[in-house]
Amino acid sequence: MAKELYAELRAYLDTVPVINTHDHHIGSGGKVTNPFGLYLGYLHSDLDVASGLEDRAFARLMNNGDAPIGQKWEAFAKVLPKVKHTAYYRYFMAGLTHCWGVTELTESNFRMLMERSSERDTVWHDRIMAEAGIRASVVDISGYEDFRNIMNGKVQGISDNAKFAVPLPELHLILSIVSLQKLSPYAKGPMRELDDFMAAFDGYLDQAVQFGAVCLKDQSAYRRALDYEMHSKPDIERIFTRLIQYPREALSYVETKPIDDWLFSEYARRGAKRGLPLQLHTGHMAGTRNDVRKANAALLIPFLETHPDVKVGLFHGNWPYMDEYLFIGKNYPNVWLDLCWCHIIDPDYTVELMKRALKILPYNKVLAFGADAFTTELTYGYLVAARDNVARALSELVEEGWLSLNDAKTVAEDWFFNNPNEFFGFKPEAGMADRDHAAGKGETAV
Ligand SMILES: [Zn+2]
Repeated sequence: MAKELYAELRAYLDTVPVINTHDHHIGSGGKVTNPFGLYLGYLHSDLDVASGLEDRAFARLMNNGDAPIGQKWEAFAKVLPKVKHTAYYRYFMAGLTHCWGVTELTESNFRMLMERSSERDTVWHDRIMAEAGIRASVVDISGYEDFRNIMNGKVQGISDNAKFAVPLPELHLILSIVSLQKLSPYAKGPMRELDDFMAAFDGYLDQAVQFGAVCLKDQSAYRRALDYEMHSKPDIERIFTRLIQYPREALSYVETKPIDDWLFSEYARRGAKRGLPLQLHTGHMAGTRNDVRKANAALLIPFLETHPDVKVGLFHGNWPYMDEYLFIGKNYPNVWLDLCWCHIIDPDYTVELMKRALKILPYNKVLAFGADAFTTELTYGYLVAARDNVARALSELVEEGWLSLNDAKTVAEDWFFNNPNEFFGFKPEAGMADRDHAAGKGETAV
């Protein structure tokens, strides 16, 4: 029975449209000159850990565009068997198999992927996304200048299905006047006072809104703890004035943390006023040798307490801090649990998280999928992971008698499609409301 239920739900999920809440590519993959580099996605971290080498020597070799492919393959082939049972490997391969028919990583397959990589244009990307059922992807291009280039029409090959997040991290790590000057293009004159700087930020945000940005995005947990604290404006003005008056000096992070805290909160509020929700990295970080304790969403509680008006999507299942994550989702009406990336970090954790979430909190608060990938192939493969995990979680709940099969299908539709549409405020079009068992539900979107 359990196997049949799983099979039925899994097949059904292939027909459910998807909003990809978080990704990192715009559509045209372009030529791959080093398939051992970014193309491998998160598998890179597992390979690096498996190599056991100090100082990321393995990763450095793989990312070295000048090293001969044969030399890289030799080092790669030694480590590859060690990672073959990880979820990163499994779903990387799911993407490669779908897109290129590759079922095994061999040197000749890598060479073939390089040779055929000129086919990876926007038309190809859009076809793969259509096959995946992805109606829209929210793209974080990460860099402030990269995002400005996109807004200013300097980047070609953007898929129609890409919607953009406004990257924040570079704009609140302020150690010297150089960091403040990033916003100069939006300033009306010299930025002498904090209010001048904030007016420039408003200009940036207004351009982003006009461009069609759908949210703010911040992943500062990679570099700092998520303990954003409140500070009085005069204290921040004092730091600001010092940076402006002594432009050749840089301050330490201890001295500037208050301005980092204050600006982050201020940006979040100014985004909320313009209808932009805030996406926040929590939990596990890409790469190796980081400290996950500073990325625990529990550290955000003072920020959440003081910002009930900011709609927040908390990323990555806060892995490995599930209990704190569920508490926050249950406790704060303005928080959504966004399971992007979590499905391939730890499938069993994600299945358990979704099962518990369904019993603990209203199911409109869960956003089931964001690939958080750098290539089309990985986005496809990571969606396979999410569908596998959601089918497991929901079939187990049906088996347990907690849900009917019809309710399970409705939950899946909301998790993958209707909830993210509502979170981002996408405009209604015909969608899941057309479906028989979902009859009577409201309009859905994109
Ligand atoms: Zn990401």
